[in-house]
Amino acid sequence: MLKTRFTEMFGVQYPIVQGGMQWVGRAELTAAVANAGALGFLTGLTQPTPEDLVKEVKRCRDMTDKPFGVNLTILPTLVPRPYGEYIDAIIQSGVKIVETAGNNPKPFLPKFKEAGIKVIHKCTSVRHGVTAERIGVDAISMDGFECAGHPGEDDVPNLVLLPAAANVINIPMIASGGFADARGLVAALALGCDGVNMGTRFMATKEAPIHQKVKEAIVGADERSTALIFRTMRNTSRVFNNSVAKKAIEMEHEGKTIAEIGPIVSGQKGKVVYETGDLEHGIWSAGTCMGLIQDIPTCKELVDRMVREAKDIIAKRLAAMAA
Ligand code: NAD
Repeated sequence: MLKTRFTEMFGVQYPIVQGGMQWVGRAELTAAVANAGALGFLTGLTQPTPEDLVKEVKRCRDMTDKPFGVNLTILPTLVPRPYGEYIDAIIQSGVKIVETAGNNPKPFLPKFKEAGIKVIHKCTSVRHGVTAERIGVDAISMDGFECAGHPGEDDVPNLVLLPAAANVINIPMIASGGFADARGLVAALALGCDGVNMGTRFMATKEAPIHQKVKEAIVGADERSTALIFRTMRNTSRVFNNSVAKKAIEMEHEGKTIAEIGPIVSGQKGKVVYETGDLEHGIWSAGTCMGLIQDIPTCKELVDRMVREAKDIIAKRLAAMAA
């Protein structure tokens, strides 16, 4: 055990979360994370329709009897998605934990609460965390500038963001962005959080349903191997720094619109990267913590190692300093 307010609230063994990741958060990974004693999330929008999401939840439930959740990210998309129907599908599926992200979850909270669903809201600023607590979410996932995907527009890294948030947030909070090992986990606990959320680290695991070449690229990359696209549109996204990311940034600076850039940055192209291992086919999300990732373990090996080493750091290294 490594007990925190987060593990108590969500009924998991360890304060480690596999957060939503477009195209990656599928049943194989989420069930493996759950079976390892951590909290996994299926990514709602990875499923083409709400009916497919219900089937994916069932598939995941066939692979684990441990708790897991569904991520629902509400951000601009190239093709409109029926969010209301995805919410109904989540409720119908019987899942009891949801991770919301990208937008204020207030409109959906009554439905989730009525269905007995606990909501973790992922946000990128202290003020949004405070609002989320006020409107009644159960926990916060605070996502710093280091993260893969959408870090918001304030550019505050976690060394400041997390304690600043911990000063004013009272509900359980997990730290997201830049976490990949036991040192990060212990640091997050010291900064006032109740656990960590990891995305990129879980991509480089045996069970992640993506091509081996993508996993090897993560292991081969360092902390400088990401790029920030969509800055000019205030929809910043941190992605692997490949030729497509460079081209997208160039087009943005030439004043091209999303309609013109869309064909090269579309999620459908990113999906092909994960399927084929062609790293230059599209954009794909990855975080700065690639600089900390040096192997491709199973989820269980990863979680066990993090917990074992975290306990060692707390009980030996830090305790010796305070003795
Ligand atoms: P998509 O193909 O619809 O869009 C590709 C990218 O373009 C996304 O980053 C999207 O935010 C951005 N975009 C689309 N329309 C835009 C606009 N009008 N202005 C500015 N930017 C715009 O995306 P997808 O890969 O099908 O993903 C669906 C949604 O999930 C997107 O909003 C994406 O950002 C988000 N997402 C979620 C996760 C997660 O972990 N849950 C991870 C990555 C992306």
